Amino acid sequence: MQDTLFTVNGETETFGIIGNPVHHSLSPEMHNASFRALGMNCIYVPLPVTDAHKGVEGLKALGFKGVSVTIPHKQDVIPDIDNIDPVAEKIGAVNTLLIKGRGIKAEKTVYGYNTDWLGANRALEEKISLKGSRVLILGAGGSARAIGFGLLEAGAEVVISNRTINKGESLASRLCCRFCPLDELDQVKADILVNATSVGMVPEVDNTPVPGELLTKFSVVMDIVYAPLQTRLLREAEAAGCQIVDGLAMLLYQGAAQFELWTRKEAPLNVMQEVLYRRFK
Ligand code: NDP
Repeated sequence: MQDTLFTVNGETETFGIIGNPVHHSLSPEMHNASFRALGMNCIYVPLPVTDAHKGVEGLKALGFKGVSVTIPHKQDVIPDIDNIDPVAEKIGAVNTLLIKGRGIKAEKTVYGYNTDWLGANRALEEKISLKGSRVLILGAGGSARAIGFGLLEAGAEVVISNRTINKGESLASRLCCRFCPLDELDQVKADILVNATSVGMVPEVDNTPVPGELLTKFSVVMDIVYAPLQTRLLREAEAAGCQIVDGLAMLLYQGAAQFELWTRKEAPLNVMQEVLYRRFK
């Protein structure tokens, strides 16, 4: 197979990720491996950007075709988008830009999407049907918001719980769903538990957001933390007989959705998966 990463030429289409910082991102490796696997003359580069508006203007001027957007710009890019996907608009955050307009002088149109929720839904749907499922989401940050809207979109019933009560209540009210304080989780009836907090992440790997004895009631437990891959929550959930979904599954499927939006080709999931899981072996 031709190694297109090293045959960059005048026909090469450019993609990238804007954020600050971006050096740790797994997306360049994942997308470049996919382009190479499909023999596409495309390249994906990390772009540290401090000003979202200037960043998007620069991407348009330079003829970029598609861009991932990460922290802290998922909200800041919205004013620069010409056409925002309705779910991304409801979430209030965009992680994917598609820039259309042929030729360097052509007027560019920027489309904005959120694929985080698509990634979370697809990762869960491998284990359980979401329509009609009851889901308890822990957390009220950016990821919880995207996952919450996505699950409602799929027809699930959602309950939010969060350490800071007013933040949790505010997200629950935006989602039009119920809030439950962390110390009343034993009263929640749910099929799926999603940890969308950073609890359990390195270096505090011995922490877990839910006491192990509460886990038996869930059929599926997903932890979006992926460092470490096997969090304490996932180990205890597996021991309690739950099906588990690790944080790389969401990352994989959000990336696959981006790839498909940009290229209109089916993402080479096996290649992307291999790149991601190799990093955590
Ligand atoms: P935010 O900072 O927006 O939200 C963090 C959430 O975690 C808040 O709800 C916060 O609660 C809660 N939290 C943090 N520390 C504690 C603690 N000690 N005890 C209880 N709750 C706590 O972060 P994001 O939503 O962007 O990301 C959350 C996690 O998800 C991160 O670990 C991130 O790496 C991971 N992630 C994974 C992705 C994937 O594809 N797998 C994608 C994006 C993120 P409070 O409101 O009380 O502060």
